[in-house]
Amino acid sequence: MKIKTMLTAATAAIAFASAAYADGLVGIAMPTKSSARWIADGDNMVKELEAAGYTTDLQYAEDDIPNQLAQIENMITKGVDALVIAAIDGTTLSNALENASAAGVKVIAYDRLIRDSGDVDYYATFDNFKVGVQQATSLVEGLKARFGDGPYNVELFGGSPDDNNAYFFYDGAMSVLQPLIDDGSIVVQSGQMGMDKVGTLRWDGAVAQARMDNILSANYTDKEVHGVLAPYDGLSIGILSSLKGVGYGSGDLQMPIVTGQDAELQSIKSILAGEQYSTIFKDTRELAKVTVGMVDAVLGGSEPEINDTETYDNGVKVVPSYLLEPVAVDASNWEEILIGSGYYTEDQVK
Ligand code: BGC
Repeated sequence: MKIKTMLTAATAAIAFASAAYADGLVGIAMPTKSSARWIADGDNMVKELEAAGYTTDLQYAEDDIPNQLAQIENMITKGVDALVIAAIDGTTLSNALENASAAGVKVIAYDRLIRDSGDVDYYATFDNFKVGVQQATSLVEGLKARFGDGPYNVELFGGSPDDNNAYFFYDGAMSVLQPLIDDGSIVVQSGQMGMDKVGTLRWDGAVAQARMDNILSANYTDKEVHGVLAPYDGLSIGILSSLKGVGYGSGDLQMPIVTGQDAELQSIKSILAGEQYSTIFKDTRELAKVTVGMVDAVLGGSEPEINDTETYDNGVKVVPSYLLEPVAVDASNWEEILIGSGYYTEDQVK
């Protein structure tokens, strides 16, 4: 009910705003094509903006910070009216955005907060703390279902330490897991906890796989790992490779419960194959709609719809935000959520 009300309100705001301003050039800076979600984000943004009458300049920076900076500077020079930025490193854009502001360019932070800058007008994202809560809740449910009563051995992975979202995911997850660690029902055998120890630079699956290899050889030669908190599908796939490499998922060694995020096709297939346990679906089509509504409003001189004015302090200001609802997906509901919503077709998944 709540989601439906929020989306209806967002759609209404967009419809209203579209009439106000419908031409102009919008620069879209995306982090990388190495993950399917950002490709979908870019495609949806272009589709929605063009439908509203805008011209777009979409650039991907392949996770290279100087490259993204150069792309943004270039967009400003080209005379964009607005910038929509999913930052690679949310702390490196202050100078570029000063130039944007001086040129009268409106700036929307897309999915990831841009930090240390007063020149960010709005932020469109999902409830990132809730993503972490949902990941940990699914992990705990899976542990109980697959391994009965605890205690359970669980290892923790975090996202990229230069991405503000990574802290929200981790903190959300720990709000569920910390009490269970404190009462002994969950044991982190490696002792590696806290974003400084569990972060994964640039969300790199190979880095997560290597860290999992090390954790397994240092801590689990005579013990079984039951669960892994993984904050993103690309990491989950690397972690699962590491686990399979030492025999989990075959013979007596049951596959640990491994979480994820983004509902990427590879992970949905993995869930259907009984390997990854769950993921978090964030409907990038809705994020694009909300963002286009923001662009339309700021360029038309009106206030976009926002639903959060407290959570996202970027170090200089609290950036007014619109948070969408994430949805936990596992083998029990993937069809209803992902096929039912038209996000994927059956053929793509099989
Ligand atoms: C996004 C996640 C994504 C991760 C890695 C985060 O900023 O919010 O959806 O899994 O980046 O690309």
